[in-house]
Amino acid sequence: MRRVVGSMSEEIGRSVLCVREKVKEAAARRAQTLPAVAPRLVAVSKTKPVDLVIEAYRHGQRYFGENYVQELAEKASNANILSSCPDIKWHFIGHLQKHNINKLVAVPNLHILETVDSVKIADKVNASWQRKRSGERLKVMVQVNTSHEESKHGLSPSGTVDLVKHIGEKCPALEFVGLMTIGSFDHDLTQGPNPDFQLLLKQREEVCEKLGLPVEDVELSMGMSSDFEHAIELGSTNVRVGSTIFGERVYTKPTKADANVTSTEEKLGSLSVGGP
Ligand SMILES: *Cc1c(COP(=O)(O)O)cnc(C)c1O
Repeated sequence: MRRVVGSMSEEIGRSVLCVREKVKEAAARRAQTLPAVAPRLVAVSKTKPVDLVIEAYRHGQRYFGENYVQELAEKASNANILSSCPDIKWHFIGHLQKHNINKLVAVPNLHILETVDSVKIADKVNASWQRKRSGERLKVMVQVNTSHEESKHGLSPSGTVDLVKHIGEKCPALEFVGLMTIGSFDHDLTQGPNPDFQLLLKQREEVCEKLGLPVEDVELSMGMSSDFEHAIELGSTNVRVGSTIFGERVYTKPTKADANVTSTEEKLGSLSVGGP
């Protein structure tokens, strides 16, 4: 058992360093016209045990992502995480439902909520964060559905400017920091750049132009294990990498009740999480 844990931890260390190197190299290949923002690597630890999070932290990783509120709340409040990872920063990257907002807002070391996709959610998160009276605003991104797949959450691109404006004007407890998208995973790069990522760039241009924001101040969260280097080359400032760092995820088979969830969501782990 010891040996298994030992080799696992070495592997995590190696993959964190390797991904970090690739992130740097991809950033160096970016067009000069893009803001020279060093991309942030968010290690997506969903379904993975706390020990692996601590291992990655020991190897210098600070930003971690989760897509279920319950799982995030448990990991972020775990006593070992709190004592071993004082500087950890959590990103929430899953679909947020109204009934989970108070729970999310209570998560220790919550850094960015990446998935605000409606005025209603923005208002409720704003109210909940205000009740916390933390003094600091909560950083939020607006999630855009760039691939027009109904199965994916996120707001339709035509609503982006209005939602960003609403957050700026009506949500004093929130700080708008960028746009997030999932996009299509299976884009064939020989056909050119991923149009979903290009659309998110266009969206940023429009937001900045219409609302008078500097481009450097609006982040782009796009890119996962299969395409983070490509996303960075196109201008991503925040990549969410899970399986390349922590290994493949194991899920239980979808139950009948989940049968209407499509395979893209399944791939993202929006179904019930398996494992211990
Ligand atoms: C799971 C997940 C990721 C990471 O996926 P990998 O392919 O394992 O890198 C990124 N973004 C979101 C929103 C996710 O749910």
